[in-house]
Amino acid sequence: MPALSHRITTLNGDGSDGWDVFYRARAMIDDGVPVTELTIGEHDIGTDLSILKAMYESAAGGHTGYAIVPGVSALRDAVAARVEAQSGVATRRENVLITPGGQAALFAAHMAVCEPGDVGLFVDPYYATYPGVLRSAGAVPRSVATRSSHGFLPQRDELEAACDGAASLLINSPNNPTGAVYPRHTLETIADVVTARDMWLISDEVYDTQVWDGAHLSPRALAGMTERTLVIGSMSKSHAMTGSRIGWIIGPEEAITCLVDLATNTTYGVPGYIQDAALFGLRAGVGLEAQVAEPFRRRRAIAKQVLAAQSVVRMIPAQGAMYVMLDVRATGLSGEDFAFALLDAHNIAVMPGESFGQSAAGHIRVAMTLEDSRFEAALRTLCDFAAGLTKSA
Ligand code: PMP
Repeated sequence: MPALSHRITTLNGDGSDGWDVFYRARAMIDDGVPVTELTIGEHDIGTDLSILKAMYESAAGGHTGYAIVPGVSALRDAVAARVEAQSGVATRRENVLITPGGQAALFAAHMAVCEPGDVGLFVDPYYATYPGVLRSAGAVPRSVATRSSHGFLPQRDELEAACDGAASLLINSPNNPTGAVYPRHTLETIADVVTARDMWLISDEVYDTQVWDGAHLSPRALAGMTERTLVIGSMSKSHAMTGSRIGWIIGPEEAITCLVDLATNTTYGVPGYIQDAALFGLRAGVGLEAQVAEPFRRRRAIAKQVLAAQSVVRMIPAQGAMYVMLDVRATGLSGEDFAFALLDAHNIAVMPGESFGQSAAGHIRVAMTLEDSRFEAALRTLCDFAAGLTKSA
């Protein structure tokens, strides 16, 4: 076999992609072991039947050919209207590219703003694919560390210290894995820093409908930021449409025009019937979005209650998104060792914090994707297990 490209063979950096616990859990499930799965961000409900009906009707009605690459106009308009209503920033069809999910949007956004070899910054802890996304776009990933004691919010000093050679900064609020919702002052600091360095800001807002405390603020709405911000959006989390692969990039018209060229040469657009289903979902309004988010709001309250009744495991106060981060450092174990031990002892699968970066070491991420009573029982078992480890330590 001829050599594979350096780019593709080094996509995962050190070779470990942080998914070992997840794969072991999957292998146990394949072997018939009943595993309580709290790893990935997959809703326990499916896509609403009304959306699936719209998808079927569109496909049966003939929308199965190539769809126009930037996205069907009605959907681009609906996304623009949603973004404008949420952020107050004037947004038109020309500011929107429809993509096959937020993941493809993250890749395209970095392709648009990073030259090969440019540094692309991202905030640690981070959604597990970020470094690989940057590498796949030819950029060099560099993380900006945050601290549990700062609520995992990036600080000015750390940001400024990381900026040399950087073309972009990728942020994510509401945050996966920490649940942090960036307050205005944090976003203003970020805006200051990227403006002073003439950098792009890529704002991953795929959890914008899942905010439990505070309010979602898009940095694109801050003074002077509309022209240097690319916003990543998706129907995956807001409408439980993870498998449909539909999302978008919002940006200045000139950037979107170039991104359409990239899409023409890579994805060639998104299936028309999926876009029609997404349009139906958006037109269903905030009621449907609230219905999809509600179970996570409830379970976050359950988690707070269970965690308040003990003192070994500390809950990071999740303000948004569908996860809770738990600090298990009192057990003396790393997040990864704790996750493996919990899986072995109780068949409960959670993600090690280390999968999301060194800033999350000694933590675990629990997805709130299980029916309420089973979720509560799993958390109680987890806390008892942690207490047992502490006693034997
Ligand atoms: N960004 C974040 C922070 C995520 O957690 C995810 C998915 N878990 C994505 C982007 C990508 O989502 P999708 O491609 O399904 O839109």
